[in-house]
Amino acid sequence: MDAFNSIGNIPTRNFRDGFFEDINNISAITLSEIIGYKMEGCSTCPVRCKKAVICSEMDINDSSYGGPEYETLASFGANCGVNDLKAIIAANAICNGNSIDTISAGVTIGFAMECFEKGILTLNDTGGIKLEFGNSEAMLQVLELIAKRQDIGDLLADGVLRAANTLGQGSDSFAVHVKGLEMGMHEPRLKQGLGLGYAVASLGADHNTGLHDTRYVSKSADLEEIKALGFMNPIPVNDLGPRKVSLFAALHRWNNFQDCLVKCIFVPFNFSKTVRAVSAITGWDTTVYEAMKVGERAIQLARIFNIREGFSAKEDNLPPRIHTPMPGGHLKGSHIAQSDLRQGIMLYYEEMGWTKDGIPKKSTLEKLEIEWASECLENL
Ligand code: SF4
Repeated sequence: MDAFNSIGNIPTRNFRDGFFEDINNISAITLSEIIGYKMEGCSTCPVRCKKAVICSEMDINDSSYGGPEYETLASFGANCGVNDLKAIIAANAICNGNSIDTISAGVTIGFAMECFEKGILTLNDTGGIKLEFGNSEAMLQVLELIAKRQDIGDLLADGVLRAANTLGQGSDSFAVHVKGLEMGMHEPRLKQGLGLGYAVASLGADHNTGLHDTRYVSKSADLEEIKALGFMNPIPVNDLGPRKVSLFAALHRWNNFQDCLVKCIFVPFNFSKTVRAVSAITGWDTTVYEAMKVGERAIQLARIFNIREGFSAKEDNLPPRIHTPMPGGHLKGSHIAQSDLRQGIMLYYEEMGWTKDGIPKKSTLEKLEIEWASECLENL
């Protein structure tokens, strides 16, 4: 978290800033020092990435709800201006106990805090809860209401897109989502290729579907790995040109292939090792090239599904906050210009064999042997 904070990559107070002054209070190191945790994991996985935490002071006496990992520490911490680690542990347990995503919940409460600050939500609306940035007690009260869909929680339970549509008064300008999915705890004004991925992905702002630009700016194991896909040189974080778009498209295909396998992306297998594992388990004598085609089919079909359900190129966008220059810190002045994003989107459409309106061409579907899917587009 320290490292992310120093480069402006910690979304803070509803993505207004990229730097949180109290980062040391909520980091994993502090968690290990003042609370302690064990690492657990899914069955047979050697990575064991799941924290197991007990915090009796917050009435968390059952570690099966896990402990907060990075996304949760940042979404309920910096993004809500909260520096109370125990409150974040409690928020994590409430979310996991109620099958609520911690990113969406933290971003939605951060959004509500900004509404409260701007007078769009009042004490009347919140039932007397002072929903200010940094108020950890208020954060937990509202999270409980979301879990029960009670009072203000009923409005917020559907996330920032629908809440902003109901509240109006310009709140959509700081509702941080794409296609209704709240953004993960990574700053697109730093990682601009990640921002492009958020804009064009069928799922919206999913931080696991594209690329994290900071991995490919200098010599690194990640840079070595993408040489297998033909990307031989570093690419700057704020580049949205053809090489970055092409790298995003390749990794997006690969990640979609991994999703088709239902394989956790944290398991650090490279391209060829993953394919060897698939061959060993299934007997399917496949290749990385063929695997990428599987991923691409998934992307094309998800795109067609979205179009059939009423989405269009209009929804391939980023929230206004990401087009607003960062006010301070390491990224001061950084933003993604609307024109740069449009250009990146057009390059991506070309790369994917889509029209200028973002619709898969018949020839693209034929090439992938899913021409039957073009029927879904015929009567629109
Ligand atoms: S790396 Fe993935 S499979 Fe392994 S413990 Fe973590 S979430 Fe589970």
